[in-house]
Amino acid sequence: MIDTHLHYTAVDAAQLPPEQVIALFDRNLIEAAVVSGQPQWAIEALYRAAPDRILPFLSVYRGQTDKADWMHDPDLPARVAETLRSGIYRGLGELHLFAKDRESPVLAALVAIAAEQDLVLQIHGDAVVIEAIFAQAPELTVLWAHLGTDPRPQVVAPLLARYPRLFVDTSVRDERFVDNEGRLWPQWRRFFIAHQEQVLVGIDTYWTPRWQRFSEVAARIRGWLDQLPPEVAARLAYGNAARLFGLGARVSP
Ligand SMILES: [Zn+2]
Repeated sequence: MIDTHLHYTAVDAAQLPPEQVIALFDRNLIEAAVVSGQPQWAIEALYRAAPDRILPFLSVYRGQTDKADWMHDPDLPARVAETLRSGIYRGLGELHLFAKDRESPVLAALVAIAAEQDLVLQIHGDAVVIEAIFAQAPELTVLWAHLGTDPRPQVVAPLLARYPRLFVDTSVRDERFVDNEGRLWPQWRRFFIAHQEQVLVGIDTYWTPRWQRFSEVAARIRGWLDQLPPEVAARLAYGNAARLFGLGARVSP
């Protein structure tokens, strides 16, 4: 599996140093992962521990309040451009942004940076935010976290059809795909098959206790993936992310 939604912070690093993260990946057959981190030293230390398996995303937040306010910080784009000079980053995010802020000039500046430097933009936000981003930069690759803020097949499907460079990750939504017996709902099966080239999976270690449940969540993801046709499951679990990030096939797709 390639996990396309992890976070790694200083608090995480104190409990789980880079070698232990990589050991956790090995135990759970995670080939590679998108990891956004703050502060920079944490993500850069993790990257150095396994440069061929960590896909670092630049988190633009310096602390918890930035999560709500970053789009009003006019100095942010220059800071981001400076940090990107390390050259290790594959994307920007995760950025939390909702409908009312979709015309933010700070967002527009980050979209321009991502487009110019061929970075993936990871967005946690509403459908109209995704539309605003593609209106500005149609060639950009966007990862839409958690299947968006209204994660229903009939809401997400039209956007995937309209924007071929849009990818969705299923992180933290796993429970809604299955019934009480763990059986995949038919409407989600149809959705995953229809959009099998644009769906990615992830655990989303949004705080340290989530890292402690890593294996449990990985097993839950495999529980619904295994009910899809094998070639579809392989695309969601691995193939789409491998293609997106240009990773070699260390396991068969
Ligand atoms: Zn997240």
